[in-house]
Amino acid sequence: MVSDLVLTSEITCPHCGHIRQETMPTNACQFFYECQGCHKLLKPLPGDCCVFCSYGTVKCPQCNSGSVHSSGFDSSDSSRHSTEGMPRPAEVE
Ligand SMILES: [Zn+2]
Repeated sequence: MVSDLVLTSEITCPHCGHIRQETMPTNACQFFYECQGCHKLLKPLPGDCCVFCSYGTVKCPQCNSGSVHSSGFDSSDSSRHSTEGMPRPAEVE
């Protein structure tokens, strides 16, 4: 049980500099984010798991909790089924 997790992050658009406070989902990473200023689709930078890690003031709950969601998962397996881009929440305690 996590108590003081920050679930709001201010995303700064790299294109127009528009800042908007967004609420982060706790069970998944948000990969795409549409800027409300210029309506461009933001994607995470290489090495980041979601747009909050790349452009937000607060990293996503998955990164905050310190657990990597892809741990124990072989990437070669997920490459076969590319229909689902969302990382499934593994065993939650
Ligand atoms: Zn923008």
